Amino acid sequence: MPDDAASPFLSDRGADFDVVIVGAGVAGLYAIHRLRKMGLRVRAYETGDGVGGTWFWNRYPGCRCDVESLEYSFSFDEDLQQEWEWPERYGTQPEILKYVEHVVERFDLMRDVQLNTRIAAAEFDEDALLWTLTTASGERVTAPVCIMAAGNLSTPRRPDYPGLDAFTGRCYHTGLWPKEGVDFTGLRVGVVGTGSSGVQSIPHIAAQAAELTVFQRTANFILPARNHLHDPEKVRRHKAVYAERRRAAYDTPFGIAGYPPPTKKALEAGAEERHAQYEAKWQEGGSISFLFSYTDLLQDSEANETAAEFVREKIRQTVKDPVTAERLCPDNHPIGTKRLILDTNYFETYNEPHVSLVDLRSTPIETITPRGIRTTDAEFDLDAIVFATGFDAMTGAMLAIDIRVKDGVTLEEQWTGGPRTYLGLMVAGVPNLFMVTGPQSPGVKSQMILSIEMHVDWIAECLERMRRNGQRRIVATAKAQENWVDHVREVAEATLYPQANSWYMGANIPGKPRVFMPYVGGVHTYKKVCDEVVAKGYEGFVLSGEKVGA
Ligand code: NAP
Repeated sequence: MPDDAASPFLSDRGADFDVVIVGAGVAGLYAIHRLRKMGLRVRAYETGDGVGGTWFWNRYPGCRCDVESLEYSFSFDEDLQQEWEWPERYGTQPEILKYVEHVVERFDLMRDVQLNTRIAAAEFDEDALLWTLTTASGERVTAPVCIMAAGNLSTPRRPDYPGLDAFTGRCYHTGLWPKEGVDFTGLRVGVVGTGSSGVQSIPHIAAQAAELTVFQRTANFILPARNHLHDPEKVRRHKAVYAERRRAAYDTPFGIAGYPPPTKKALEAGAEERHAQYEAKWQEGGSISFLFSYTDLLQDSEANETAAEFVREKIRQTVKDPVTAERLCPDNHPIGTKRLILDTNYFETYNEPHVSLVDLRSTPIETITPRGIRTTDAEFDLDAIVFATGFDAMTGAMLAIDIRVKDGVTLEEQWTGGPRTYLGLMVAGVPNLFMVTGPQSPGVKSQMILSIEMHVDWIAECLERMRRNGQRRIVATAKAQENWVDHVREVAEATLYPQANSWYMGANIPGKPRVFMPYVGGVHTYKKVCDEVVAKGYEGFVLSGEKVGA
């Protein structure tokens, strides 16, 4: 039974649901729970044949979350967070998927999920104030409100190398890993890509393969994860103040409490002191703690270089072959400006005799042949190729849907020069369509589940107010959007982030507009902005029962 017996939202218009949700990953599932508690009739549509989103698709060997398990979980239910046991510091993909499935069962979410259903189009009718969503098989469903919870890293990308279809061996993408797993025993395997997915899977693939060749375009900064079984006493202490920690997380840049913020600039410390500081963080493991060594690592190139060189030295000390070690040393972007990667035994893997590294910057891939990969200077015979080549991040999933306002704008037109949103929550000219952790919000630069809960709660409170006031339409104004997009850009330009060819910039997808997409002012700042917008009567939005120009 819904907790709130108020009249269903806009049900008098004969819509199929009050709210339709695209995606049944962590965001879509929480949206079902939160909105159902308000008495709304909701349904989530999910492409996969199971729930969990990222944790459903990314089943590659070694896949883990690089945010600690006690943090990377829902906070909305105290009993849930007290009862769930995370065995290790970082959750593995199977553990996280098990957790998500537990949440689904515990809160009976499945009855409002339709699996195996890809949403192909969404059209808003301004007269009826209704969204019509059309599935890939032609089914249509209507609701006054649509929530896009389709994920930021959910559209896997394989490079368009010539000859790919002619390859006679096996081919995989880390983001679309077969459920039954893959046995590489005795095979000659090539892995293309050395981001988080490549770095996590390479040691596991190396443990099985007869020969492993890694094809690297950009060397990345990688820090030790230092995963371990949880100390029960540490868990007890954490859980004793769980709710308090969750609240405190909103006052931090990355949405995670417990990391004391730095107080000093890197160059204010002497070389020895700096080295000791980086060494302590290196031993501790994890990325936030390392980035919190000094206040200016992401603002000042000289400061950044001190941390970058520390990591390069670690690589040189670990990898025995000096040529391979140098290839693995990142040299074309400041540390932290691409997503920092956490590893377990990644660099050590290159000391094994059957593992080799190909530098694609000096010898790019020319073609995939029926037998393997040909670079400009060699041919590699392979039984299997693993593409760990990432995603069309942040905009890929939204733009894969034909989103349009009848007789009005399409999302694609709106975003030709890169995404434009107000707070990463709505798009001007596109009424009654909310995004969870959309572009220009801090989502991907934070503990994702916190950002998801923050957005879904914000949307739910907004809908509650609309219902109370009899309002049927909400849209962001063009002016508010313009100001926010400018602000997001200015905040990014005051940092070193735009210097890297990262997926944050859309740089990994040929032809994608180069725009820095996340908001890097921090969760703490962003939360204040969102709260203020509400306190000022939804400033920057037009809420109305009438059709209004945005
Ligand atoms: P990614 O970070 O985008 O890395 C893709 C890799 O493939 C890069 O090394 C990239 O090189 C390379 N690549 C792309 N196109 C290529 C081409 N045409 N030829 C050769 N190499 C190419 O993707 P990801 O590793 O899947 O990770 C994406 C994000 O997902 C992460 O940043 C993280 O936010 C999240 N993730 C998190 C975890 C975790 O929590 N531990 C694990 C996996 C993923 P360039 O760098 O030169 O583009």
